[in-house]
Amino acid sequence: MNSTNNDTQIERAGMPTDVSIITTYRCQMRCKMCDIWDHPTRKNEEIKPEDLEMLPKFKFANITGGEPFVRLDLEDIIEVMYTKAERIVISTSGWHTKKILKLAERFPNIGIRVSIEGLPIMNDDLRGREGGFDRGIRTLLSLKEMGINDIGFGQTVSNKNSHDLIPLYELSKSLGMEFATASFHNSFYFHRDDNIVTNIDEVTANFSELIERLMKENKPKSWFRAFFNLGLINYIRGNPRMLPCEAGTANFFIEPNGDVYSCNGLEERYWKETMGNIKECTSFEELWFSEQAEQVRQKVKTCPKNCWMVGTAAPVMKKYISHPSKWVLKNKVKSLMGRSICTDTVPICSVGQDPLQGDLRGGNNLISNIQASGLINDMPDDERLKLIDEIESENA
Ligand code: SF4
Repeated sequence: MNSTNNDTQIERAGMPTDVSIITTYRCQMRCKMCDIWDHPTRKNEEIKPEDLEMLPKFKFANITGGEPFVRLDLEDIIEVMYTKAERIVISTSGWHTKKILKLAERFPNIGIRVSIEGLPIMNDDLRGREGGFDRGIRTLLSLKEMGINDIGFGQTVSNKNSHDLIPLYELSKSLGMEFATASFHNSFYFHRDDNIVTNIDEVTANFSELIERLMKENKPKSWFRAFFNLGLINYIRGNPRMLPCEAGTANFFIEPNGDVYSCNGLEERYWKETMGNIKECTSFEELWFSEQAEQVRQKVKTCPKNCWMVGTAAPVMKKYISHPSKWVLKNKVKSLMGRSICTDTVPICSVGQDPLQGDLRGGNNLISNIQASGLINDMPDDERLKLIDEIESENA
């Protein structure tokens, strides 16, 4: 078979576009909503840069941990991954300022996302290390001074820190940096089963205010970001996802030991199965098109969880772009008319998903889609998809 036919076959079967590489579970932080630091990997058991040589080409690679900058060979990992991915973003605490600046000097196109969980006192309390806020911000400011453009910070909202959502958003705007949001989740990855928002009204009110402000901006990207935040409100309320989860299709995760998972939201108490291990295959295609990988994809279709994390939200926002676009159009018009954005009702977009998916709590309120056309719909699809690509990498 010639290479053209082979490429076409792989394309039809669906090669992934995005990868998240969990380089290590070692971390110097002591976060309250994540116990990764308490379950560190052994250095000698972590995947090596050369193990990544077998990966295919991607549009986007997220390098994460633990704290990726504890790895002494991180630059080698990035070197390999630049032969694979068009864009690379490293998620970090921002603690290791010197190492981060050194890496950025060598790879000036690198994306760096620093986790900031609140204003200084709240951040340092939640992250369990005094001075974490200072170091994170100092890292970002130094990167900016060096001329590194792909930088930003993100907040994982939990019960304690949602009142810092708006101050951090305003801080990001004044610094000219992107601001990403997430909700804390339970999963094997975080070693947590009690990451549940209990002060739902307070947290969702703060997200609603953020949505209001994002919709007032003049950037279409901010409007799609507002839609993503609406998904967080929906998640916090315990509803099925606004759009289905298709983890393990466009994207996947690699564990520090080389195991491949569809996502990092799995929990043993529901299900948790690997698609294979990159160290045990002769080629990536062997793993990706295996029966085991297909079984995982089938399980994802009926996964009872309702996670809303950018890694699995962005691909379906792109795939089913007309749904976010309709919401954006309707609510941008409302915003322009000075009316507030209603976040009481969240559109669950029916795109043929299995009703069992996200049926964790028995709720499955399929709400018919918003009828709208024009404005954002006039924007060519590739432009809208690009905006979500950007949101995805900024949230990494
Ligand atoms: S809903 Fe998706 S991201 Fe969440 S655990 Fe299930 S498969 Fe993973």
